[in-house]
Amino acid sequence: EIFPGDFSGNTMQRNTPKVLFSLVKPVGFENTTLIHFNEELSEEIGLGKFEDQDIPFLTASDLPQNIKTYATAYAGHQFGNWAGQLGDGRAIFAGEIINDFGQKTEIQWKGAGATPYSRHADGRAVLRSSVREYLMSEAMFHLGVPTTRALSLALSGENVVRDMMYNGNPESEKGAVVIRTAESFLRFGHFELISAQKEYDTLRNLADFAIANYFKDIKSEGVEKYKDFFAQICKRTADLVVEWYRVGFVHGVMNTDNMSVLGLTIDYGPYSMMDEYDLNFTPNTTDLPGRRYAFGKQGQISQWNLWQLANSLFPLIKDEKFLEETLNQYGNYFWEAHDTMLCKKFGFDELEKNDEEFFSNWQGLMHELQFDYTLFFHEIEKMRNEKDVDFEAVSYGSLDQNKKDKLNHFLESYQNRLLDNTFSREDSLEIMKKNNPKFILRNYILFECIEEINEGKKELFEKLISALKNPYKEIYPEFSIKRPSKYDDVSGCSMLS
Ligand code: AMP
Ligand code: MG
Ligand code: MG
Repeated sequence: EIFPGDFSGNTMQRNTPKVLFSLVKPVGFENTTLIHFNEELSEEIGLGKFEDQDIPFLTASDLPQNIKTYATAYAGHQFGNWAGQLGDGRAIFAGEIINDFGQKTEIQWKGAGATPYSRHADGRAVLRSSVREYLMSEAMFHLGVPTTRALSLALSGENVVRDMMYNGNPESEKGAVVIRTAESFLRFGHFELISAQKEYDTLRNLADFAIANYFKDIKSEGVEKYKDFFAQICKRTADLVVEWYRVGFVHGVMNTDNMSVLGLTIDYGPYSMMDEYDLNFTPNTTDLPGRRYAFGKQGQISQWNLWQLANSLFPLIKDEKFLEETLNQYGNYFWEAHDTMLCKKFGFDELEKNDEEFFSNWQGLMHELQFDYTLFFHEIEKMRNEKDVDFEAVSYGSLDQNKKDKLNHFLESYQNRLLDNTFSREDSLEIMKKNNPKFILRNYILFECIEEINEGKKELFEKLISALKNPYKEIYPEFSIKRPSKYDDVSGCSMLS
């Protein structure tokens, strides 16, 4: 039975044992307007140039005759609790495309209508959250962080009702449809669902499918194969979260249903880039006061999430000791990768035994002096170029003499540490430049862009698209400043998805 995509106020959740998906038709919007198309991505995945596109397909308003579109069921742990069955509530798969190099890409609309997994919600997306996903997922890609991507952005022509504190007018939000792509949208939650339902044959099928398609270097067989699978997911997850730390990204909703098996950043909701360095920073108002998903907790939470995945893969692996050891190893692997990443940001050639202490002094300094995370690294790069530095300009507080003394003391220890490098100063600066972005998509900039685009203006949007394609260059100096104080209150929370 094909679900029509209409929403009647409360969709009966459908159970789909053994198949994990339902056929669903997009609702079929009548007044859509394409806002942006990512031609570069389109060509990369094999969909071709803009002129070759079927616009009604991009906007999910009219589809080719024989296409079968579908939504998948998954489960998840939300804020630490088992949430049972969830699923693609506002995402519908258009299918999969294979490019000339044999690479497969899944394509889905977000916001194109309700599905049997929408529960009490409407399957729609507002322009605000769609612009946020569109720009940020592309920004992450160009920063070099593994992520799902965005192919097109369109107005749905509908108004969507949200009880938002955004501008006090609950009926004023425009609806939108984004097409997003990924090699696969498989989540921890897909495995959690079938495992909780004790469908171990389906669990094995899904694991075999994932390994054969996305973990092609796994050559082992039997139980070993599933062990390698789990170990590789651990590694990809650690590498991903270390990348988030490198660029200052806070995901905001690291529930297990938002964790990609392939180690991609997925589900751009109340995320934010961090302005002032703060391990306790969370952009998610529903995560207060616990701050489970704060910036500094992301490493620990990723491990907790992997425990849940381990539990769901247990029926295939049946080796508690292996799973426990792998998860304990995760912490070591993570922190080593994390500290190696920091070495690159500081321009060190390799991790030394005293670096841990150096980094924790640095963290203390960042908190106390309220430095902007991204801009701090610009200043130490400039310092090494013998250009004028201005640390006061990158602090959200004021630097009294005591603080200046602390800063100078730290900078001295930095200079000393640099002397241990075995490579040249040029090499060291090169590494810094590759690891310290010059452009990040700050929340206040997104806020301004959304205000504009809601009024039908696209100038800032286009400018951001060009800035985010070259994040390691300073193309627009106006984006390389700390958040203006008038935006202190939109540093995160009022931009919730
Ligand atoms: P999230 O917190 O965005 O990861 O969403 C959690 C669950 O709620 C997922 O299963 C989503 O598909 C679903 N969901 C979120 N927003 C909507 C919506 N507007 N309509 C239907 N389902 C939704
Ligand atoms: Mg989600
Ligand atoms: Mg979401």
